[in-house]
Amino acid sequence: MNLLDFGRYFPNEETCIEHFKTEREKNGLRCKRCNNTTHYWKKDKMAFQCKKCGYRTALRSGTVLENSHLPYLYWYKAILMLSATKKTFSANEVQCQLRHDVYEPIWKMLHKIREAMGKRDTNYKPTEFIEIDESFFETTNTKKRKDRKIKRVRENQKIAKVLVLIEPISEKNKHNTYKPAGHIKMIVMDGSRANKINRGVEAIADNDTIILSNDNNKQNDIEKVVKRNYIIKLSDIKEVKKTLPWVHSAIGNAKKILKGIHHCNGKDYLQNYLNEFCYKYNRRYFGEKLFERLLVACINYS
Ligand SMILES: [Zn+2]
Repeated sequence: MNLLDFGRYFPNEETCIEHFKTEREKNGLRCKRCNNTTHYWKKDKMAFQCKKCGYRTALRSGTVLENSHLPYLYWYKAILMLSATKKTFSANEVQCQLRHDVYEPIWKMLHKIREAMGKRDTNYKPTEFIEIDESFFETTNTKKRKDRKIKRVRENQKIAKVLVLIEPISEKNKHNTYKPAGHIKMIVMDGSRANKINRGVEAIADNDTIILSNDNNKQNDIEKVVKRNYIIKLSDIKEVKKTLPWVHSAIGNAKKILKGIHHCNGKDYLQNYLNEFCYKYNRRYFGEKLFERLLVACINYS
């Protein structure tokens, strides 16, 4: 979907509603009360009514649009903006483009879309092997600090630890030895470090997956989660760069986007920004199809 096509297919609110309704019907609806799958469309109520028990399911219910009062056209445009670029847009820019007076609903809308991206990516598990590493991302502190004596600048500087997992595809490119990277996942870590790393690895890897990591992670008992874990000595930087190339390139790219577009972000929302980066990275060859895929992910949110 490009800008010209979008203008043609979705010129107004009605066309977006009609498209949204059709997509929901394609996925199939199930009545929350009686599990029936056949429904009438009640246009005046903007809801599906169960043919068996009469229970109504609102058009937005169970999708990312639930609890939002923003027009469908806003959501469609925001999905287009986020899917149209490898980088991203800040809430401020989207607010300007939509000419909406209030910042907060736009900001919430974008975070909901990013949550849907993260949810979609949890369905995928690599089967072969993955590179893992930890990185530190700068964030701002969103919670009030008790210690008022600390200077404001230092007070706001916070660092978040992020576990990065990436699946390098072992097949060589037919033109040269270039190895394209596969699926990526970034998880903001909180609490016990070893535990969190193991949980992160567990979320993405099977027991048979081979893990490549540097000796920074050797104390984390990854062996409890997977059978084979190969550790590269961190002292041999050349070897680390050669053997873990993708994980470092992905970390660098994610940091550039966060710093260049969002400038600063709270630790509580860092996961959502990383969800967006990973979702697009994992689908970087989808091209214009990304809009439809993201829309489906937003509709099948719950
Ligand atoms: Zn029913």
